[in-house]
Amino acid sequence: MKDVPEKCISCGVTLLGIGGVRFPCPSCGVIIARCNRCKKQSNIYTCRSCGFTGP
Ligand SMILES: [Zn+2]
Ligand SMILES: [Zn+2]
Repeated sequence: MKDVPEKCISCGVTLLGIGGVRFPCPSCGVIIARCNRCKKQSNIYTCRSCGFTGP
């Protein structure tokens, strides 16, 4: 399976080279990707699938 570059759900930066985290949405379980910067700053994210928001 090819690893497709993902975009940070908070700021939209491509998660290629800069690292980042992936985690399942607490509400619907869809995989959400976020860059390390947004993770550090605990930026708000909104799930594209169910609309769940969290830090
Ligand atoms: Zn980001
Ligand atoms: Zn969700």
